[in-house]
Amino acid sequence: MSPARGAAGPGAPGEGFRIRRRGGLSVFEADLLAEIPSLRHAFSTRRGGSGGGCFSGLNFSFHQGDEAENVRANWAALSRAFGIAPERFLTVRQVHGNRVWVIDDAESMPVSGGGDAGEDAPRRDAIVTNRPGIAIGVKTADCVPVLIADPVRRVIAAVHAGWQGTSRRIVEQVCAALEARFSCRREDLRAAIGPAIGPCCYEVDDRVREAMAGLPGLERIFSPRETPGHWRLDLALANRLQLRNAGVPASRVAAANLCTACRPDLFFSHRGSGGKTGRHFNFLLMDGAPGAG
Ligand SMILES: [Zn+2]
Repeated sequence: MSPARGAAGPGAPGEGFRIRRRGGLSVFEADLLAEIPSLRHAFSTRRGGSGGGCFSGLNFSFHQGDEAENVRANWAALSRAFGIAPERFLTVRQVHGNRVWVIDDAESMPVSGGGDAGEDAPRRDAIVTNRPGIAIGVKTADCVPVLIADPVRRVIAAVHAGWQGTSRRIVEQVCAALEARFSCRREDLRAAIGPAIGPCCYEVDDRVREAMAGLPGLERIFSPRETPGHWRLDLALANRLQLRNAGVPASRVAAANLCTACRPDLFFSHRGSGGKTGRHFNFLLMDGAPGAG
């Protein structure tokens, strides 16, 4: 892969990624997930939402300062656009770790639906389930959202990978959980890496590079800046290389290659906005009767 092809930026989405209208919303979808029967997924954009000011657009977080009324309207719009009942949207309290919440047949149906991770929601950065009818998702504004599906075992995963989760190899943890808990084969997995801050806009210092020292492809993930001790970091590529390291075939991984900071018309960006902005919701679900409980 040439460096130009791997680099995120303001241009067109990566191969196999496209923007689609769903209801009144615009979302990104990856062909390799869209072609799996009875699987639905989306990486949301700002387009189609109710918020104003720095939250203008489709913000899904109640905890960044947006009006609750706007956020509720956005969840309702997502529910309508995909025909998914609000209580079926499930997320976690993201803590920049690498722990995985596995929802299998033994786990009772979680209480924190509706897309808001309340006080009782697990503190995790990934969700894995084989239960149909639950839309599992993660919220992002620069961090890397990764959606993974095994069309053979019919198991899905949603992953939130910022630099800390990436340094703790969260996508590799998820692949390990899929294998250990659901007997998924790595070669069957398909992964879509959504829009995230690109190396064009993501400068970090030595502290971050040292935390990532053990990761595969270090010399490709970091490129030096003019200022000593400063680096451009390609978080999406870091996660792509981890997926490959975990045994997921390169042909089964698609990346959006869009930088959230370069495209304020499409995306919320924590860095690009100085910290005050909304959150996207990136989710997937397998259709079927929802689990009891
Ligand atoms: Zn950028």
